[in-house]
Amino acid sequence: MRPIGDRLLVATHNQGKLEEIADLLAPLRVSVLGAADLGLAEPEETETTFVGNARLKAHAAARVSGMAALADDSGLAVDALNGAPGVFTADWATTAKGRDFGVGMARVWRELEVISAPEPRRAQFCCTLVLAWPDGEDAVFEGKSHGHLIWPGRGVQGHGFDPIFQPDGFDQTFGEMNRWEKNRLSHRADAFAKLVAACFP
Ligand code: IMP
Repeated sequence: MRPIGDRLLVATHNQGKLEEIADLLAPLRVSVLGAADLGLAEPEETETTFVGNARLKAHAAARVSGMAALADDSGLAVDALNGAPGVFTADWATTAKGRDFGVGMARVWRELEVISAPEPRRAQFCCTLVLAWPDGEDAVFEGKSHGHLIWPGRGVQGHGFDPIFQPDGFDQTFGEMNRWEKNRLSHRADAFAKLVAACFP
């Protein structure tokens, strides 16, 4: 695997993701910059797969900055909803006044109630990381975290849909875990373990 160098651009404007990614990269010899630090525009996510959207974000950032760039596309896939909201997870939380994850979580639970989905209501968080270089080369790493959904949500830590997701083998939701606990077992941690093994052997 090609080396990353000593600086890595993380192509996200999502502060929650950026903080998690910075924590995950903290043990490595690389300094992390966010897309907002370089004033990069946020490209529209026009693809219908996690890998498609992650590629789009990583390549746009690498091209403009001339640095290796890492993008994350992620979401919640609910078994009884045939994998929805999936790549559209952020859209389910979009309101006329901006992102509201309370609205997104309520919609997920409402759709499960409408079809009387049996409990436990199984779901996975999915994360696809794309690392892109300015010359167009890239590498893809995927991670998952399996669990079930609960209602009402619990916990105020983390971000996005964390309060309604309880990972297998734990009594707490992601929203109740501190950042170090979540970063040991999350979908993002799973994808990062693969990236670190490939890029920092
Ligand atoms: P995107 O990858 O920027 O399209 O957004 C994915 C959306 O999935 C985020 O806005 C969150 O709502 C949700 N999501 C992704 N990862 C997590 C996570 O670790 N916890 C909670 N929600 C997440």
